[in-house]
Order: sequence, then C-alpha cells, then structure tokens
Amino acid sequence: MLKKLAICGGTAVVDRHWPNWPQCTENTRRNIDTVLGSHRWSISGQYRGQSSWEERFAQAFSAYTGAAFCVPSSTGTAGLTMTLEACEVGAYDEVIVPGVSWVASASAVLGVNAIPVLTDVEPETGCLDPSALERAITPRTRAITVVHLGSAVADLDRLTAIARERSIPLIEDCAQAHGARYAGRHVGRFGIAGTFSMQHSKLLTSGEGGAVITGDAGLARRLAHLRADGRTVSSQPPQMDEMALIETAEIMGSNYCLSEFHAAILVAQLEMLDEQLALRRRNAALLDSLLTALGLSPQATAVGTTARAHYTYVVRLPQSITERVSAERFAAALAAEIRLPCKTMYSALNRNRLYKPFSRNRFALGKSFTDAVDPSRYRLPAAQAFSQSCIALPHRMLLADADAMSRVASAFEKVARSIDDLRA
Ligand SMILES: *Cc1c(COP(=O)(O)O)cnc(C)c1O
Repeated sequence: MLKKLAICGGTAVVDRHWPNWPQCTENTRRNIDTVLGSHRWSISGQYRGQSSWEERFAQAFSAYTGAAFCVPSSTGTAGLTMTLEACEVGAYDEVIVPGVSWVASASAVLGVNAIPVLTDVEPETGCLDPSALERAITPRTRAITVVHLGSAVADLDRLTAIARERSIPLIEDCAQAHGARYAGRHVGRFGIAGTFSMQHSKLLTSGEGGAVITGDAGLARRLAHLRADGRTVSSQPPQMDEMALIETAEIMGSNYCLSEFHAAILVAQLEMLDEQLALRRRNAALLDSLLTALGLSPQATAVGTTARAHYTYVVRLPQSITERVSAERFAAALAAEIRLPCKTMYSALNRNRLYKPFSRNRFALGKSFTDAVDPSRYRLPAAQAFSQSCIALPHRMLLADADAMSRVASAFEKVARSIDDLRA
C-alpha cells in the first residue's frame, strides 16, 4: 500500500525542524554593538579615529576571494548597476544576459538604459551557453554577464575565451556563488569584475548588501566613486571628525553605500562561511547519489569547477514525471513532505512575470529601444526546459545531518510513486 501524500492529508516524511537561516553568532552581535556605540553608522559619516567596517569588510572579502580590490555595495543589484556603469555601458548598448536568473540580472541592465539580450543556457547547468553566446553577440554588444546559478559554475574557460577574442568585458554575477571556485580560483576573478549579493537568502548575508571584486585598479576606482555620489575614501587617514569621503568628482555616482551595520555583520558572518559551505557540499554529494539512484538528475556544473557553493540544491525531474505532473505541483507535494519551502527554478526571463520592461516609463527610450527589449522576441528553449523541470531546495536544508538527506530522498521517492494522487 502506498502511503498517503502529506499534501493530500497524509503524514509528512520529515517531522523535525530544519536549521535556521541566517544564523546569528556572538561576534555578529558584538560587532553590531560596536557600531552602535561608535558614532559612525556610515562611511559617509565623520571619521572617528578608526577605519570603517566597510573598509574592513572590503579587505576581508578581498583576502577571501583573492581579488586585488573589493568595493562593497548596498545590494547585489546596486553592485551590478555600478559595474555596468563602470564598464561605460549606457543607452542602447546591448548586454548579454543568461535566459534563467533572478530578475535583477536583466532589470539592472534596463536600469542603465541598455538592452538585455536574453541568451539561452546549457541544459545541464542552467548557466550561459557559450555557443548561444557566440550567436547573440553583435557589434553593439558592450558587456557579457554570466550567472553562476544555483550550485553551478558556468563554463568559464569557453566564456572567457569568447569575451577575450571579441574584446568584450565579461561580468560575473556571483550573487549565488560565494566560495565557489573554478580551476582553484574564486569565481568573480575570471571576468573584469564579479558582483555579489548579501541579501537575506544568500550564502553570505547581512539582510541586504553586496560587493564587487575586481583585479583592475581603474575599474575599482570608478566603482568606488559610483557607489558614493562621486566621492571616494582619501588615501591619507582623515583628521578626527572630518569626512572620510573626499569629493574628487571624477565621475557622477549614486548612493549605493553599504552601511556600517551591514558591513559589521558581514565581517562576522564571513568567519563561518567556509565551514557552512563544506557541510553543504558533503550533504549535497550524499543527496546527489541518493537522487541519481532514483532516476533524478542533480544540477551539473562546468568541468573546471573545483569547489561548488550550494545556494540552492537544484535537481531535474525526469520526463516520466514532468509529462504527468508540473514541476510546480511536484514541488508543492515535496514541500509538504519535508516541511520546507521547495520551488521550481525561476521562469525563463522572456516569460518571467517579474520581468516587465514596459511597466515603467523610465525604460521608454523610443520605438527601436522598445522593440529591442520586447521579451516576446526571444526563444529560449533550453532556459524554458530547465525552469520547467527543475526543483530548487533552499540551502539551509544542506546544513542538517546525513539522516535528514536520506529523508529528503525518501520524500522524493514517495511523491514520485504517488504522482497519480497529485493529478486527481
Ligand atoms: C540575488 C541576486 C541578485 C540581486 O541581488 P540583490 O542583493 O537582491 O539586489 C542578482 N543576481 C542574482 C543571480 C541573484 O541571485
């Protein structure tokens, strides 16, 4: 007899609580308290005799990633925006964007009045497909953005080769890939810059936050100005109570500064990152083998990947399941079994309900622009197939123990066996 599915009123496979996310530590609390008493809550406040938390975090994250420069930002979206601006991307320029990602990958491009050219992905990784990239490049392409999606690293060997050959800057969106490495090197160091998000759900978080890393001193200087209204931190330590930011006005910016509170949280959270990543890797490897045995396909990563970072645990359902029930319905049934939110992968960007260029007047730059950004002009079969057949589980699941992974696999098996109950 098959057990009744939890979504149909049966008993759930998992009866315990999952680890929480984010995780507060003593150091996190202590750092916040230090900021509270410091009389400096922003880098745009007066100097109080100590280097800012923002600078301390920038140094720590540079050291962690091995990048020469790091400029923190208020969000990942702000980091992407600054990076596009620092690469002098502007009105009517084309920017390659992979067909499956969080909406910000495309909306940030519209935000600088450029045209996101939605480009198909590799079926196994969900990351930008190098062959599709070659076809999408035109004389107007001013930047290529690549997203390391879920738990995958994109094919950086081929992507960097194409970018180099065409002399187009490659921007790595690493919002989901803190700690991921390719050929032994941290992601974000293969393109001209790597952008990170430290939003609540990400692998390193301060609730909201971001950072850009680069090895290019000129780009780093432009980024610093772009994030602080055209100001930058002086190379000399300022006098007590003076502004630490000086008005060089080399380039007009916006206010995308990371607050001292956020920076202080990130300094403490970074201390735990490697240990958390290692635990997730162990559990993901275990789950990979359990689910593969059930006929499912865990997300692949590019061959050169030397360390994965699991932002989401992504697994593709076989056609024998997806032809009978939607991945969405399967995810809902699975969520009820393991008592954890499970989702399908993001919709392909040309069909993503959050991607609506015409809903804001800001993006109306004339008919040729409107035609160029029209999502309906794209065909993204691999992106669509990926988004319609993959389930994404949140990374806090991977902070549990090995027994919990067995239960997750049992839940997949239970739901797969009772597909007919889901169709009813
Ligand atoms: C989260 C995310 C962003 C945006 O970061 P925010 O900090 O939310 O602005 C951009 N790209 C990708 C791939 C993301 O996952």
